[in-house]
Amino acid sequence: MKLTVLGSNASSPSRSNPASGYLVEFEDKTVLMDAGPGVFMRLAEIMDPGLLDAVFLSHTHVDHCADVLALFTYMAYGPSGPIPIPVYGPQGSRDHLAAFARAGEDHVFHQVLDFSEQEPGGEVWIGDAHVTFGRAIHPVPALVTRFDVGGGSLVYSGDTGPGGDLATMANDASVLLSEASLQGIRGPRTFVHHLTAVDAGELAAWAGVERLVLTHIPASLDPVISVDQASSVYSGPVHYAAPGSTFEIPTTR
Ligand SMILES: [Zn+2]
Ligand SMILES: [Zn+2]
Repeated sequence: MKLTVLGSNASSPSRSNPASGYLVEFEDKTVLMDAGPGVFMRLAEIMDPGLLDAVFLSHTHVDHCADVLALFTYMAYGPSGPIPIPVYGPQGSRDHLAAFARAGEDHVFHQVLDFSEQEPGGEVWIGDAHVTFGRAIHPVPALVTRFDVGGGSLVYSGDTGPGGDLATMANDASVLLSEASLQGIRGPRTFVHHLTAVDAGELAAWAGVERLVLTHIPASLDPVISVDQASSVYSGPVHYAAPGSTFEIPTTR
């Protein structure tokens, strides 16, 4: 299994780094996790977006889903690949994005994007990948997503504060791709809907993950500091999800 970072910026894209978007490849499948602003262009540089096997949306904040609308118009009005593309998102995601596209029930939107809304505790199979969903702590319905392929596993936090299902879902994961929107020590005034780098490190240590990849770091913060802070509480390898970076996850052990 291979993880490719298309974008990892929190909240908004920058010139060099789109907002959240990740490619996950296994066997002959390629799926997109999140589609923030800028992600579609970066995706189109490396593959025909119409050939995606599925899209997974952690939640419907703009920085994680806006480019699903770019994918929609590409599929509907551009050179189409196999259609429709399955889209797995949290409760309400279908109507939320369809409303922006002004798409009624018989609109082409629903012919090219086949939404399947998921609850925490849900599961789907994409080829040999067992994909499970958990609850994230966020102001809108939001999912933690775990891919298990053979003996390899990838857990993506989406946006979440402390609590929820992330820690248990990350148990023994090969790679934990965790948001680390904040730096410093958590205090009573720290935002409860996002994690600090130390939160992510503590979670990785508790869950016994093999590698921690920090993402969703705002352009205003130095990711080197985030990596250092996570490393102060977690002894395994810690990486920054730099745009364009890839992480190989062995599926045999
Ligand atoms: Zn976000
Ligand atoms: Zn969010």
